[in-house]
Amino acid sequence: MMEPAEKAVEEAGEYRSNRERKTVFSFEINGVGSMNIKTLKEDDTSIHLLIKGTNAAFMNTLRRIILTEVPTMAIDEVVVIENSSVLRDEFVAHRIGLMPLKTDLDTYNLPEACNCGSEFGCNLCRVSLALESESGDHTITVYSGDFKSDNPSVVPVSNRIPITKLAPEQKVKLEAYARLGKGKDHARWQPVAVCTYRYLPIIKINEKSCDLCEKCIKVCPRKVLRKTGDEIVIHNIEDCSLCQDCVDACEKTPNAIEVTWDDESYTFNLESTEALKPRRILQEALKILDEKLNNLLDQLKGIQE
Ligand SMILES: [Zn+2]
Repeated sequence: MMEPAEKAVEEAGEYRSNRERKTVFSFEINGVGSMNIKTLKEDDTSIHLLIKGTNAAFMNTLRRIILTEVPTMAIDEVVVIENSSVLRDEFVAHRIGLMPLKTDLDTYNLPEACNCGSEFGCNLCRVSLALESESGDHTITVYSGDFKSDNPSVVPVSNRIPITKLAPEQKVKLEAYARLGKGKDHARWQPVAVCTYRYLPIIKINEKSCDLCEKCIKVCPRKVLRKTGDEIVIHNIEDCSLCQDCVDACEKTPNAIEVTWDDESYTFNLESTEALKPRRILQEALKILDEKLNNLLDQLKGIQE
């Protein structure tokens, strides 16, 4: 009874840092078969994967763990010393809280897991960032880049996030405290701006009934189809949103184009807030899933005994 559960997620593949289109992970998911992942596109902020041999339940698990469980650093406490700007203290604090910060998961602990046990935190679970800005004679904009962090590796991901404007003779002075947290507690700790999966489309063109009228090509909002010589070819299947506009545009009987989907193949699109690298987000999510399954196994063992 225990054996299938033990094999639920078994990492069998090797991880390669190569950015080319190749298999980067391979898993055995019990009952689903061999999972195969290819990188379609990857850069510093986003990753686009083609995942075969799985199901929607697993894809949604991965998505939800990324959204709610992968920790990042964010400011969750602001002490306003002076604020004569037109924005109220709460408004300024809210804007600061949503500022993504570069996250160092290898150095910092989640506050609840830190050995200090302190409500205020220590050097291993808290980073302090100070902001002091004065306008002088001119109106100025206060940006995220004006914060001085006590750890240079934990800073806003961009220096150009506007916090507030200061009219002449106005000033803002505050101290902010950043901690690791999870998206399930507040959206400011979510590591991603976009995290979606989609069924891989299957487009079939019946060459016998197709008369190359090209209506399907013109109507497609994603430009998935193209005409090459005397046939309609699929140019970029991953971009198809299954909208069926091409099927509706075809006037032939029976329809010369059919659009369905493969319920064992998915495209996965992740766009990071830049707090963490996209690949690190995926790795952390899989680690968390593994921990959760091991925890479940331990509890099952307890029940059996
Ligand atoms: Zn601590």
